[in-house]
Amino acid sequence: MSRPQSDTISGKRVAVVTVPFTFTDKVPRELGQVSIETLRFISYLKACRNQVVFVNLRTAEKFLWKTRRAGRTSTAKIKMGVFSRSQEFLRAELSRGAVPQEILLWCDFSFFPYTFDLDVIRSVREICRDVCPGSRVRVGGVFWDIFSAQAAAEGFEVFSAGEGAADAYPPDFSVVSGGAYGLFQLAKGCSNNCSFCVAGRSCPRTFNNAGTLRYMRGLAEGGIREFWNWDQNVMLRPAHFEDFVDRYLESGLDATLHFSLGFQPNLLTARIVKKLGRLRLGTLAVPFETGTSESCRLAGKPYTIISPVKRVSEINRLAHKSIERLICPFIIGYPHDDFRSIFRIYLSILRLRSSPLPFPLCLFPNTRVYAENAGLLQGKNISELHGQLWPLVPDRKVPQYRKLLRFLAIDSLARAKDNLGLLSGEMLAAFREELRINGAFVEMCLNAGSESLAELERVEKNLFHGASRGRLARPAGERGGARSGGFSPPPGA
Ligand code: SF4
Repeated sequence: MSRPQSDTISGKRVAVVTVPFTFTDKVPRELGQVSIETLRFISYLKACRNQVVFVNLRTAEKFLWKTRRAGRTSTAKIKMGVFSRSQEFLRAELSRGAVPQEILLWCDFSFFPYTFDLDVIRSVREICRDVCPGSRVRVGGVFWDIFSAQAAAEGFEVFSAGEGAADAYPPDFSVVSGGAYGLFQLAKGCSNNCSFCVAGRSCPRTFNNAGTLRYMRGLAEGGIREFWNWDQNVMLRPAHFEDFVDRYLESGLDATLHFSLGFQPNLLTARIVKKLGRLRLGTLAVPFETGTSESCRLAGKPYTIISPVKRVSEINRLAHKSIERLICPFIIGYPHDDFRSIFRIYLSILRLRSSPLPFPLCLFPNTRVYAENAGLLQGKNISELHGQLWPLVPDRKVPQYRKLLRFLAIDSLARAKDNLGLLSGEMLAAFREELRINGAFVEMCLNAGSESLAELERVEKNLFHGASRGRLARPAGERGGARSGGFSPPPGA
């Protein structure tokens, strides 16, 4: 990705202000966490002999923000909210002590990456300029690394220390002392190249496991009992991940670990799953992403749905007791959305007794999906690329997609069946068809000889060959012995 030129600040008083994020529908409360990258950056600034003040504007308090244009041609309208501390809080924090010479409005996010609303950034900047008229106010963070080419036209001056400049520094947890959670990072970036994701455009790297455990121990001694990991691909180097688990098990640390962004499921071995079973895990994310061979090809995923189906089944068998919540993310809102694929994912997740976590597609420059749709996106500003504004969904379908998102977040089949009114006619037809074949589909995935695209195509061929000859399993909800949401347990689980 094109990046701003690297810059340095040294020997100054610097205020780092986290920019709050906007939302339309329900978002997981953990999204308000500080990014570990921000905490590394603060260490880096301190190492450059700066006095650093950290002002965290993110909080669970919600305010109504603005009505935004939504949909592919921006004629739909959606009200957005903002999770933010008050203006008074920001003014008070900036007025405390000596006036900062530099103010950095930091657009990093624990959940990588996310689209910020430019008017929110402008409004925070206005307050900073009002309270500290002599300070230089710039923007930065991963969001501006991605959108660096657009910054000047939008009237922002970007500060960037350069790619990876802060990676060598341990996160500075002192600025969030008294918090209820800890963070840890094992890897950064990704060597894959999925069509929507910017992680694959950065230089992948891992962090020293001994060093990671050192700061986790320090936090645990201070009373932290929960640690969150938001690595884009925590399985970037499977051996590195396994080494962390081994060291953690030997360390005697007794905390709850959350892996919230996901294990690349085709890299998760049964041996690692067994080791996960010896940890205390809060949230564990196993992405599904695509439901059919065609959608897998279009999204450029390095694994088919066979992988997460098999892995979740293994986790159920080998590590279920150690996990509070197994979540399975997937994305909707592509121009190539196929409702059969979407409901195949959804129903497979429910059948495997896990929680679906649908996300709307956020768009970023330098991704394939952005390039393929550049013509459609010409009239949009950066703020309108926010996934919850459905930038590639036809405007008239935006209300249907908002309801679909609510439907897909329902984690039991019984309640899903009570909420079929959230689905359009086209969606409902696809849901019913998938419900009819889901038992057979999951069974075929579990029995598949490999996890490749060719194998998935064979499964699909057999599935529909079976359907045409009436050999499919009975509809999922009609099986006996249902344990979760009306589904019987998957074979092998
Ligand atoms: S595997 Fe995950 S982190 Fe890697 S490029 Fe694909 S979506 Fe991004």
